[in-house]
Amino acid sequence: MTKYRTRTQAIHAGERIDPATKASAPNITMSNSFVMDEVTGFSIDAFGDTKPYVYSRWDNPTVRMLEDKLAVLENADACACFASGMAATAAILHTTLKQGDHVVAIDVHYSGTAELIRILKDSAGIEITLVDPTDLGMIEAAIQPGRTKLLSFETPSNPLLSITDIRSVSELAHQAGAQLVVDSTLATPIATQPLELGADFVVHSLSKYLGGHGDALGGAVLCSHKNMKAIRDHERVHIGGVLSPFNAWLIARGIATSPLRMQAHTESAMRIAKFLESHPRVTRVLFPGLESNPGHEIAKKQMQGCWGGLLSFSVKDGKDLARQMPNQVEIIHYAVSLGSHRSLIFWMETDEMLRSSFVLPSSLEEQYRATTGDGIFRFAVGLEDPDDLCEELSRCLDL
Ligand SMILES: *Cc1c(COP(=O)(O)O)cnc(C)c1O
Repeated sequence: MTKYRTRTQAIHAGERIDPATKASAPNITMSNSFVMDEVTGFSIDAFGDTKPYVYSRWDNPTVRMLEDKLAVLENADACACFASGMAATAAILHTTLKQGDHVVAIDVHYSGTAELIRILKDSAGIEITLVDPTDLGMIEAAIQPGRTKLLSFETPSNPLLSITDIRSVSELAHQAGAQLVVDSTLATPIATQPLELGADFVVHSLSKYLGGHGDALGGAVLCSHKNMKAIRDHERVHIGGVLSPFNAWLIARGIATSPLRMQAHTESAMRIAKFLESHPRVTRVLFPGLESNPGHEIAKKQMQGCWGGLLSFSVKDGKDLARQMPNQVEIIHYAVSLGSHRSLIFWMETDEMLRSSFVLPSSLEEQYRATTGDGIFRFAVGLEDPDDLCEELSRCLDL
């Protein structure tokens, strides 16, 4: 499949015609166990690398179809899928870290990741240094050669859309003998392939743009065969947060149209970002496609003009608007998440974010407040007609 271009790969990679039925669409193998031809051992260790299907917590044909599709799109040796993006992130942290290790993590991670990293600090004796993802000097100074095992990044970040220069950060990590994980959920492999830029692990929430329809939850880890062994043999088999074959099938179907959807999300979000930027009530718009965005130049190099549909914005009297918003919107759903064909908007109040998700050292807290003011609206631009979305937003902003 590597000889084909992205749109072709998104449709065909991982899929094969079922020899028994000749069905053109992939089957869903909704079976938790598989009939064996001979007497075998009972543990994963009893099987070599070419093990047959035994039990779906170990491996399942529909989940593997999705893994093969993702591995081709990310140009990765190996992929393992999980029940959610958080299960995928947890699998990487569990297998790469032990007590006493040090992690450098960005200060504006997805809230679930930020909270998990903080829990590890208290419960597993992992030391954490939080850094501004755009400040290479700060990142370099935070790395402790020999002790820092992992750099945990996310680009663009959710919800502030901070952009990290993946190649530069991977060089800093490798000079110090550390590995780099990049959460590429917002970019998707359609925009960015972090492994090509030097990352050691890519993590995706498949619940967002890749699944693309706001229905199935899922997650994926992509990395080398060497790094994958512990993730497959331990995190999947013993921790057990595996993906359902039904969700794998839905997500694979979503991926088939992801190149076209990402293009449409990008065009609509760009339109809406410009509309917001020119609106008198709007004080700031965060979107990597805007030239005003501090990460725009790096994003241009790294995202091939495919910005996706997530943007965040602040307005005058944001709290007041937030209170009115849930009853004012009609086609835009007031809900969390992103990456769906439906537009979703959600208010994220600064004080609350700094209490629950981000507990930051004072200089980083100041920077966060300077960016978000009293709060931001995170707007996941869907695939409705952008004129309808602008009209609905405009009606809200004029309240
Ligand atoms: C949603 C999200 C996650 C978590 O994924 P789930 O599938 O909800 O567990 C992780 N990272 C980013 C950037 C996300 O947007």
